[in-house]
Amino acid sequence: MIYEDYYIFTPGPVKMSDEILAIGAKQTPYFRNKKFSEVTFNCEKGLLEMVNAPEGSRVIFLTASGTAGMESAVINLLTKEDKALVVNGGGFGGRFVDICKTHSIPHTNFMVEDTNLNNIEELAPKDSYTSLIVNAHETSVGHLYDINTMGTYAKKHNLFFIVDAISMLVTDPIDMSSQNIDVIIASSQKGLALPPGLTMVILSPKAINRVQDIDNLYFNFKDYLKNGERGQTPYTPAVTIMLQLEARLAQIKRRGGVEQSIRRAKDISEYFRASIKDLPLKFYTPYMPNAMTTLTPTDGKSAMEIVDGLEKRYKVMVCPNGGDKRDIIFRVSHMGEMTKAYVDVLIDAMYDFYKIERR
Ligand SMILES: *Cc1c(COP(=O)(O)O)cnc(C)c1O
Repeated sequence: MIYEDYYIFTPGPVKMSDEILAIGAKQTPYFRNKKFSEVTFNCEKGLLEMVNAPEGSRVIFLTASGTAGMESAVINLLTKEDKALVVNGGGFGGRFVDICKTHSIPHTNFMVEDTNLNNIEELAPKDSYTSLIVNAHETSVGHLYDINTMGTYAKKHNLFFIVDAISMLVTDPIDMSSQNIDVIIASSQKGLALPPGLTMVILSPKAINRVQDIDNLYFNFKDYLKNGERGQTPYTPAVTIMLQLEARLAQIKRRGGVEQSIRRAKDISEYFRASIKDLPLKFYTPYMPNAMTTLTPTDGKSAMEIVDGLEKRYKVMVCPNGGDKRDIIFRVSHMGEMTKAYVDVLIDAMYDFYKIERR
């Protein structure tokens, strides 16, 4: 198996727990029955509870990666009559821009750097918009936006607020009700720490009312909402990942709820950040999520060289960046089944790589 005995610090797929892995080893059951409908209902209920969704919210379960959640949300919920303000602070924001372009949804590419948008009122273009779209954690650079302030802004300007929370769910706080969020997009392989293949679009009652008739069969939300009433999906779901999601949500609850998971991720990220302060690395952004740390070498070393060295010499997987940031930054995920002992393997490897003694 590739990477089976490696230490995993990549921002998706992330380190999974033994309990979740064990479910993946079992026979996939038949699903067009009451037993599996119960699983779907449990997943829906658990997710809605986790993000504090308003009464009457629903979840669309799609067998696809997270980008399909992003694209399907746009095509089902926005029209050519809309005008979307799309926050673009990196690769995933750029993807929302591409999605709007592909589907001819009027939009502004709101390029953002060096701010978490806690000053969005000053920075946003003064045009009139109908919708605000953001990736709460821009995973390509490890930048967390101020969703609280953005939600207040969205409410004030009556903007339909779509939040991709894929890489901050379970590690960083999000609250659909108090932050005025209309749509949350989730995906299995990041904070939820499951295998890739399942994406979830959480719709508030306002979003449900906005669902359009669209020229698309597989991603038609109306079909999913109708089938979902009896705990089913129009087409074969990622059955095993749904079973793993049900177990994962129960696991989060058993361990003290999502607040506890967030505290744990905060604790792990702070431990990691404090432990590497003797290394020639600096933080790429002051707006770091608990989910991830993005680092820039300060000694002229290429980031790629560090990523390769850690993988080849220590079986430790951190994440390189592509394009123009290839040599400038690399990313360390704190999502998934992390303990201080596990993170110590990475920290020790980093000190050994630099031939600096860990204090
Ligand atoms: C990983 C990720 C996605 C989804 O990417 P896929 O490869 O399609 O699963 C979307 N948004 C963010 C912020 C992500 O981190």
